[in-house]
Amino acid sequence: MAFHRSCLDLCISRSRTGDIYMAKVAFIGLGVMGYPMAGHLKAKGGHEVTVYNRTASKAESWVSQHGGTAAPTPAEAARDADFIFTCVGNDDDLRQVTTGPDGVLATMKPGVILIDNTTASAEVAREIAAAAEAIGCAFIDAPVSGGQAGAENGVLTVMCGGNEQVFQRAKPVIDAYARMVGLMGPVGAGQLTKMVNQICIAGLVQGLAEGVHFGKKAGLDIEKVVEVISKGAAGSWQMENRHKTMNQSKYDFGFAVDWMRKDLDIVLSEARRNGATLPVTALVDQFYGEVQKLGGNRWDTSSLLARLESE
Ligand code: NAP
Repeated sequence: MAFHRSCLDLCISRSRTGDIYMAKVAFIGLGVMGYPMAGHLKAKGGHEVTVYNRTASKAESWVSQHGGTAAPTPAEAARDADFIFTCVGNDDDLRQVTTGPDGVLATMKPGVILIDNTTASAEVAREIAAAAEAIGCAFIDAPVSGGQAGAENGVLTVMCGGNEQVFQRAKPVIDAYARMVGLMGPVGAGQLTKMVNQICIAGLVQGLAEGVHFGKKAGLDIEKVVEVISKGAAGSWQMENRHKTMNQSKYDFGFAVDWMRKDLDIVLSEARRNGATLPVTALVDQFYGEVQKLGGNRWDTSSLLARLESE
């Protein structure tokens, strides 16, 4: 069944301010990321938002903070929505809230766009896109980067995969929680781009951890070292934002090791499929496995330093 355009043309109207779109939006998954993202869709986007969260108390707090409505299942949340957002943990969680018995596809009307912000595989993106297309709907994989702070401040980077026309319809809605929204190619291309992002981060954080570790062993003042070298070729977002806490052995400031391992598992599976050679990424994945053995499941990714210091 072809994607139904005319329905959405009717559903989306210009707000009184004339410069934002108002739509009926469902948001599934009010975790660290989803909770503030759904908040921006309501407050900044001006949309009518219905939320669903597996742990119902989080949905109740969201409604008492932002207004809107909470639904008892993903399917109920999606019933009248024009745009449906999901932001859950992994591929299986995503299947459960979309194609599962109480998933959003059970009630989605033709013309509706499903936008998934979960970091998942390109394979599951294509699978759900096909299921959405079969009922006249469209799907965009739209993983994000920018972390908890980016979600709270509504300045995430969103990497999308999907059809150009569908993307053009969804972008003004996604803009509510984003600073950069890019269409990277067909369905799956958003997830593949996020994989590149995670590959780049893995090697970089290990390099930074080794630099800080070496500097400490050499008796240098890490603050002073970073002040100087961060202005040159070694500078990075990770260096700017994490060196202080790494130097204090504090690892409670960002993306959790468990999530990073989930992402690297997706990356390494995709690399086995497409033939890419990722020796450093594979090694860093093992290092994160050792951080987990140190009890660091919820530590942030800069805890690669804790592994070096434990040796
Ligand atoms: P989180 O805080 O653990 O939240 C996960 C959310 O998904 C919760 O609302 C959880 O419900 C829900 N959920 C999980 N499994 C479910 C299932 N089977 N059925 C229904 N709901 C389910 O995670 P997060 O940090 O928001 O991350 C969400 C996604 O964004 C992940 O894919 C992550 O890799 C990605 N991401 C995270 C960050 C970050 O810095 N945190 C940055 C970029 C991307 P409950 O409340 O009931 O547990």
